[in-house]
Amino acid sequence: MALTDLNTWNKSELSELYKKLDAKYTEVKGRNLSLDMSRGKPSAEQLDLSMGLLDILNSDSPIHVEESIDARNYGSVDGLIETKKLFGQILDVNQHEIIVGGNSSLTIMHDAVSRSLLLGTVDSTTPWGKLPKVKFLCPSPGYDRHFAICELLGIEMVTVDMLEDGPDMDTVEELVKNDEAIKGIWCVPKYSNPEGITYSDEVVDRLAKMETKANDFRIFWDDAYTVHHLTDEPDVLKNILTACKDANHPNRVFIFASTSKVTFPGSGISVLASSEENINFIKKQIATQTIGPDKLNQLRHVHFLKDLETIKQHMKKHAEIIKPKFDMVLEVLEKQLGKQNIASWNEPNGGYFISLNTLDGCATEVVKLASEAGVKLTPAGATFPYGKDPSDRNIRIAPTFPTLNELQTAIEVLCLCIQLVSTNKLLQNQ
Ligand code: PMP
Repeated sequence: MALTDLNTWNKSELSELYKKLDAKYTEVKGRNLSLDMSRGKPSAEQLDLSMGLLDILNSDSPIHVEESIDARNYGSVDGLIETKKLFGQILDVNQHEIIVGGNSSLTIMHDAVSRSLLLGTVDSTTPWGKLPKVKFLCPSPGYDRHFAICELLGIEMVTVDMLEDGPDMDTVEELVKNDEAIKGIWCVPKYSNPEGITYSDEVVDRLAKMETKANDFRIFWDDAYTVHHLTDEPDVLKNILTACKDANHPNRVFIFASTSKVTFPGSGISVLASSEENINFIKKQIATQTIGPDKLNQLRHVHFLKDLETIKQHMKKHAEIIKPKFDMVLEVLEKQLGKQNIASWNEPNGGYFISLNTLDGCATEVVKLASEAGVKLTPAGATFPYGKDPSDRNIRIAPTFPTLNELQTAIEVLCLCIQLVSTNKLLQNQ
């Protein structure tokens, strides 16, 4: 296939190419493929890495832990001390700054927003839901399920661009300084979903220090991929809680994390980390919601994951499985599209996604054509608030779940669809 910049081709060259690509696409459609790259799920091989979790507790295991808590019984609404210590190591916070939640960090994010709307935060004079309008800043492309929480709960989303080292902070600072209705910002600060970006120290500091019109403004810091490195030289993220304390805004941040992509998604444990004042405030509210979390699941995670070093080793095994998949995607993209100047993509050091930008106005059509050829991708626009990508160009690639062979086929089909749609677009522009 053509290996030069398609933007320099004349009409007859483009027409000729389009015919060839279209014929190839018809042939691919006839193969009746059925491949799914729509969500960032671990593969079965990755899940196998954690099978030891199922055997690690048995009827002979000690079930009394620190403070003589019987893990089988009610109690410990904010989690076992052992679990808090483990997450304390991962997130570099102390054990009093943590509440251990249930099986999903998305649930605790949803609940944190809901509680703020119903009851306010420790710094609120009015519950957010009693105000005429509540807005959240949404650095985009971002995580569609964050945006879904806002949409469900009636929070207006304000799109902010993602730059190479995090959200466009000039815009963020300007907006939060002047608008009291802006109560929050969504952040995936490390190996972001979908762009794989890690926020720079400067961005972390500016978020912690910035002047906000709302004095109960909160950063929703979803550190979902904090230990999910793909290389031996991992990105390093500055500690936001410390930065907020140093900036005299100790209550500004809610940090979320989980073991979903460390052990088993749906059967892991999640945490909220924040200032002690926030934690104590929220702990009381949670105590009306549950008499205690699943401490046996916490216990088996503590026995299985042990400490930060063991987690690092465990995550290396994940990386050994998924790095070749990321490499494969990048290799095919480079080979098929590298010189054509019709798409660009990131090369992340960790996380679960590769973010690809087509020419403006092409992503929806590419995703549609890929789907009709049997390759399911995350819907175009999903990485933006209200599902609307203003440039209609971003496509999220989730390489972890398919096998290497499936992945190669899926990415080749994706590249073909990008070439086809781009050629058509360039022809229309002639
Ligand atoms: N946050 C981000 C950024 C994610 O990508 C995901 C999973 N796709 C989650 C949260 C969901 O985490 P959990 O399973 O803990 O609810």
